[in-house]
Formats: sequence, C-alpha cells, structure tokens
Amino acid sequence: VGDEHVSVTGVPTGLFIGGSWRPASGGATFDVRDPSTGAVLASVADATAEDGLRALDAAAAAQEDWAATAPRRRSDLLRRAFDLVHEHTDDIAAIMTLEMGKPLAESRGEVVYGAEFLRWFSEEAVRIGGDYRTTPEGTGRGIVLKRPVGPVYAITPWNFPLAMATRKIAPALAAGCTVVLKPADLTPLTTLFLVELFRRAGLPDGVLNVVPSSDAKALSAPIIEDRRLRKLTFTGSTPVGSALLKQAADSVLKTSMELGGNAPLLVFDDADLDRAVDAAVQAKFRNVGEACTAANRFFVQEGIADAFTAALTEKVRAFRIGRGTEDGTDIGPLIDGRAVDKAAGLVDDAVARGAQLVTGGERVDREGTFYAPTVLDDVQPGSDILTTEIFGPVVSITRFATEEEGIRLANDTEYGLVAYAFTEDVRRGQRLAERLETGMLGWNTGVVSNAAFPFGGVKSSGLGREGSHEGLEEYLETVYVLTPDP
Ligand code: ADP
Repeated sequence: VGDEHVSVTGVPTGLFIGGSWRPASGGATFDVRDPSTGAVLASVADATAEDGLRALDAAAAAQEDWAATAPRRRSDLLRRAFDLVHEHTDDIAAIMTLEMGKPLAESRGEVVYGAEFLRWFSEEAVRIGGDYRTTPEGTGRGIVLKRPVGPVYAITPWNFPLAMATRKIAPALAAGCTVVLKPADLTPLTTLFLVELFRRAGLPDGVLNVVPSSDAKALSAPIIEDRRLRKLTFTGSTPVGSALLKQAADSVLKTSMELGGNAPLLVFDDADLDRAVDAAVQAKFRNVGEACTAANRFFVQEGIADAFTAALTEKVRAFRIGRGTEDGTDIGPLIDGRAVDKAAGLVDDAVARGAQLVTGGERVDREGTFYAPTVLDDVQPGSDILTTEIFGPVVSITRFATEEEGIRLANDTEYGLVAYAFTEDVRRGQRLAERLETGMLGWNTGVVSNAAFPFGGVKSSGLGREGSHEGLEEYLETVYVLTPDP
C-alpha cells in the first residue's frame, strides 16, 4: 500500500453496507488527496442520502441478532480486529500518512493507540454489569439491567482517522449496538481499510456499515431524523456538533459529542524545566497541532518564562519539515489550504496586536500545504489566537504572575476539554485538578489519551466520555425492574 508516487492499492473504495462492498447509488465518487503534494490518491464512492438510509436499514435489521449475540462472541470479534490491525500496522500507517499528512512514526503511534480501543472494549464486552437489591422498605427487590441502546450513527473527523473510528465502533459493538459510520471525506481510506479488517475478522452482515460522502449534511439529516436510529456519536467542531444536537433534539436522540478545545498549558516557576519543555513539544506538535487536545494557549509564570521560551524555541527551530513519508520528518503538511490560511491569519493578528514573533510565522515555500512551526511570545489579550482553536504548529505564550492569575487565564474560555500543567508542588497540582474547568488534566505530561480512561470535555467541548467503562455506558440503556418481596 502506498509508494512515493502516491498510489494506494488494496484499499476498498466503496460503501460497505449489509456485509458487502458496493458503489454509490448513481455511481458518483469523490477524490481523496495527499496534502503533501495535492495528488489524487483514490476516488471513493460518494454515498447519497438514499445510500445512508440503506445503511441504516442494514444496521436496524442486524440489531436484534447482534444484541442477542453472546458477549464473548462480540468480544472475540473485537479481539480479532485488534490482532488484524496490529498485523497491518505498516499498511494502515502508510494509508494514514498519505491521506492525512502526519509523519509515519506518528501514524504508527495512532495505530497502537487506536487499536487499544478494540482490545479494551473486547475486555469490557464481557463485564457489562447490573444490580439486584432489596428496597429500603424491605418489601421488594429491585433489579437494574443494561441493554444496548440500538443502532448508532457515528460521524468522525479527519485528524485521527483510525482512533476516532475505533473509539466509537469498539464500545458500540461491545455493548451490542450496530453502527453506521461516516468518516471524514478528507480521510476515508484508513476507515475503509479498518472496516475491511473487521470483515476479515468475521463481522456479521449489517453490524458495521460505512458510508463515505462528500455531502455530510445531505447524508446525515435523514439518518438522524429516522426513528430507528437510537444514538448519535460525533467528534468534530463545536459549530457542527451544536447543529447536530439541534437535529437530534427533534427525536430526543441520545448523543455523545466530542467537540473543540482550547487547551491551556500552564508552566509554573517550580516546574521541572526539561520535562515541561519535552511535554510541551508533544502537547503542541503531535499531529502537527491538528488535535482537539493540542495545547492552544501557553501560560508561563514570570520566573521561568525566559528559560522555558528559549528551550522550547531551540527544539522548534530544529524540527525537520517534510512529507510524512520521508524519514526524519517532524512536521508534515496541514490538512488543506484552509488550515494554512487559518494558522497564518491567527499569527498575523497576534503580531499586529503586539505579540513577539520568536520563530516561524510563515508559509513554507514548497508544494503541499505546509506552515512553519512558530513560537509567539507576549501574546496580548484580545488576540484571536486566544479564543480560536489553532489546529496548526503555532505556540502562543502569555506570561502570568500568580497561581490565581494562571487559573483565571486558563478558565477564560468557552471550552474545557483538556488542560496541561507543570508544577512539582503536589498541593498546587491538587488545587489545579479541582479548579481548572476541564474534562482532563495532564499534570506534568503532554499526552493524556488512553483507551482505559474517560476522554471528554466540559462546557462547549462536549457531552459524554469515550474510553474506559464510561465509554461503554454511552451505548447502554438502564432498565429498572421491581418485584415484590419473595
Ligand atoms: P473539522 O473542522 O475538523 O473538519 P467538522 O466538524 O467540520 O470538523 O467535521 C467533522 C465531521 O463532521 C466530518 O466527518 C464532516 O464530514 C462531518 N460534518 C460536517 N458538517 C456536517 C453536517 N452538517 N452534518 C453532519 N456531519 C457533518
């Protein structure tokens, strides 16, 4: 799969509905491009609204049998998929790098991370619990049981094409729900290959269906309106998530929403400088900054600010920019030209408002959609970069004096997905855990994502959690049964 001339072979390019690959009704396709060159990698079937409803037909038809399938068998399917994903690490990493741009080493890292959801939920599938209790009055017995929510519609973004899919598919299938999945049109190939691996792992017909489409809205609206659908799970931008919530409201559809972030990264005077710098590089530059968890606003205490900025800048200046497929690349292309325009606009605005440009601050003069890794110091209040998710390789530093001020700055955002804080003071760390308005906190670390822990945000960053046992609960209904005292 994939060579330097950007051909991708052996990856399915159809819709997967009811257990077979097929073209779109009407036969339309759309192109998938390599962001490092602009070359077309593949043409993928472009699902229409009618195709979307056929996929829901298949999911609805398979729901009852899948819910009745023994948990151990559901678990075994996920485990076989986990093994197949690992066996195809290099293939998946190549596809991901070609369609998304991130360096191959990072794509391999995503394969490991994304596969963990398959393993974790294969283990959870057989541990779906319940409860049996005497009522407080002693006159009855209450039974609480769990059952699958029902057919799920999952919409995923382009920035983590594998992990965002496994994070939804694995708990849904573990719980006994069937799925219709719409991958991002910029990066459908990784998902299509994942589904092919599921097919090879023995996926029953209709349990998982995939409908790539260039018109997400036209495809999605009829699926969301359909009363057979019982759950919508979405990862993407806050405006789209909010629009989807409005549509879901009509049928009081259950939803999980992983939306945007505006992560603060706080460095206190008592931080371990080397650790903070290394972790900050990860928190900012992993995925070329194209992550909802990317550190967006650096707040650095005055006593350590000069040393931190100098050490970080030295690392940033040493980055190698290149195609993700080239050895030694640290910084690949951004996903498209719009992403480059956005990063450039935010940097220009910050500089116009008084920020100091320490390094970078320009587009890279080569084919593809590259922006230079950038460090801005003394970013001023009112700059757009403080309120906008950058989604690019740009560090924005603001200095602060006291812990109180640091916390106030960190919380001054509508978002609350993740925060990072560097301090060797345990009690300060505890205060931050209690006072930062965030769903997740990296305390002296720059990456928090882990299939075994609940990922998700507060405020406008979303609803619900993915990963851990909480991630399974999102796909389960609670049923309470009361019987009299026997
Ligand atoms: P990003 O800005 O990261 O591309 P989006 O929120 O636009 O994030 O996209 C995330 C996912 O949501 C993609 O799969 C995209 O196709 C899909 N999407 C975008 N707009 C809509 C919509 N109106 N209805 C349903 N899905 C949508």
